[in-house]
Amino acid sequence: MIKVIFSLLCLLLVTPQAFAQLEVDPEIAWYERHFQEKKSKSVDQALEEATYDLQSAHRAGDFPREIKSLKSIALIHLTQTHLVEHAMNNFIRALHLEDSLDLKDKQLFTFLGLAKLWEEVGDYERSTTFLQDALAIDEQYKSPVRLVRILNEMGNINALQGKLDNALENYHLVLKYKDVVADPSVEAKTLFQIAQVHELQSKYSESLERYKESLTIYRSIGDKKNEALLLNDIGELYRRMKNSEKSMANHTIALKLRQRLKDDHGLSVSYNNVGELYFEKKNYQQAIANLRLGLKAARESQNQIEIRKSVDYLYQSYKLIGDYRQAIEYQEELAAITEFILNDANEKQLLEVTNRFTLEQKEVRINKLETKSIVQQEKIEEQQQFRNFLFVLIALGCVIVALIFYMYLSKKRSNKILEVANTAVQEKNEALIALNATKDKFFSIISHDLKGPLNSLTSFSGLLINHSDSLSKEEIKMLAQDLDKSLKNLFALLENLLEWSRSQTGNIEFKPEVIDMMEVLDVNKSLLEAQAANKQIAIANLCVTPLRVHADKNSITTVVRNLLSNAIKFTPPGGTITLNAKENGTSVNVSIADTGVGMPKEVMEKLFRIDTKHSTKGTANEKGTGLGLILCKEFVEKNGGHIGVESEVGKGSTFYFSLKK
Ligand code: ADP
Repeated sequence: MIKVIFSLLCLLLVTPQAFAQLEVDPEIAWYERHFQEKKSKSVDQALEEATYDLQSAHRAGDFPREIKSLKSIALIHLTQTHLVEHAMNNFIRALHLEDSLDLKDKQLFTFLGLAKLWEEVGDYERSTTFLQDALAIDEQYKSPVRLVRILNEMGNINALQGKLDNALENYHLVLKYKDVVADPSVEAKTLFQIAQVHELQSKYSESLERYKESLTIYRSIGDKKNEALLLNDIGELYRRMKNSEKSMANHTIALKLRQRLKDDHGLSVSYNNVGELYFEKKNYQQAIANLRLGLKAARESQNQIEIRKSVDYLYQSYKLIGDYRQAIEYQEELAAITEFILNDANEKQLLEVTNRFTLEQKEVRINKLETKSIVQQEKIEEQQQFRNFLFVLIALGCVIVALIFYMYLSKKRSNKILEVANTAVQEKNEALIALNATKDKFFSIISHDLKGPLNSLTSFSGLLINHSDSLSKEEIKMLAQDLDKSLKNLFALLENLLEWSRSQTGNIEFKPEVIDMMEVLDVNKSLLEAQAANKQIAIANLCVTPLRVHADKNSITTVVRNLLSNAIKFTPPGGTITLNAKENGTSVNVSIADTGVGMPKEVMEKLFRIDTKHSTKGTANEKGTGLGLILCKEFVEKNGGHIGVESEVGKGSTFYFSLKK
């Protein structure tokens, strides 16, 4: 019973139009528009436009617009065509898209719509479930305007189910947000709803208080229609409170307002209420007058309930005043309208049951959608986990590769260091071997080569000391000459030995400069000319023009002196020695050629080497050490040149070396 009364009251006023002013939130405004009584377009036109919008959005791949169009179509079916199956189908499609695109905030309105749809078919439990879903979304986005909207719906559903305390809780929560929402119509409407609940609870004074508060707000915002409604309801409350005077006063003002508003629906209610009051006062004429007007307005607005009420009271009034003819007429009409209403109610109930059944079938799809979404979520999580695992793996791989690369680099570096160290060791080794050979050579020279001339010197000096009296002047002169020769040999040897040792210890001063090769050859020629003349050897210097080379003068002089004295040593009397220096590209070639004994190939291979000792006596039996050519090679190479020999046994030898210009 409570349910029915409340449903009727809700139908009268509790429509979302009271929220129409919440234009702050465009989504809410769009949603509410579907519930407004006055429509700017016909149903067909609205459906056509929404369908066209849906198709174009689909073609353009504009998913948010596609979702909105689907919901528009669903809401048109819900509020206007009442084809609940179509509404459900479109809501499901929207829900599916929102789910796949993760548009959670948009889903709030789909849930609100679905809640309304279940409410429409009388399944308040399911309606509540969807409202709770909407509430869960709002908790995430925290929009007070939307929250108030959901809470209001919840209050209505609770009231419809007879859960009046819950409903009051919802409405009071809405009032808590009244300052945030800042919309007086929301407050007025909520107060009105609270008043109705209190009325149902028979708490009349509380109810009256809330009605009056609501009325004040509606008056202040100039909402005449609701003002009339409030006055009517207050009038009804006073009747229940057995205060027929106040009831009449309120109903009369409500009636006047409705007359001005030309609101047939409201008028039928007000006339009937006034008529009813007169009837109760037994003023049947006044009752009949009002009830007839009520009946007229009810017929105009096709309000079956009010038609029935007018007819019922008219029948009773006529009966009571004894106008049976009229009474019978209205009695017959009463029977007809009662049957009509009953049939209509039955039909509605049947439709509600059918629709509920249809929607229950569809709900399986929503559930499936939810499972699908959970499965999808799990899949996404799984993929995410796999991706994370891959990231870790790749990062690990990178670290390992970097480590290997680093190890490879450091190994390469240490190998290089090792290689360098090895080469250094090898070089040092070679140097040590060379040094060892030098040392061996040095000792062998000292032990053998110095010993020989010194021995002959001692024997000469001994002869001179012991036999000076018995020796003729000629013999003494010969001995003195031999002594001189030995001394000179020894001197030359010592000179080379010292020079060589100085070069080995790095004490020799090496100072490359521009020198004239012609002059070096000339100086050496003059120095050794007397020695050559002793052996009847002629020396010729073919280099007659100054020839500049870049070299250390002292070392080059030593080289020329050694080669020239070798040429004198290994050339028999009557031979010639030719000195020459010629330009050859970027270098200068110096040659010392003799017409001496020459040498075989195997001897030539032994020359310039410290590790093999080769020395032969000269043509006048001059002794040697095999040190001269080694010294020459070292000095030439130090000057950046190259030394070599060409020789033929019995014909002579040509020693040559190159120097930088
Ligand atoms: P030394 O002359 O003191 O033995 P060298 O190193 O100057 O030492 O010469 C080494 C050897 O090379 C000589 O003993 C000789 O056998 C050979 N040699 C050098 N110059 C000539 C030359 N002009 N003609 C022939 N043989 C030569």
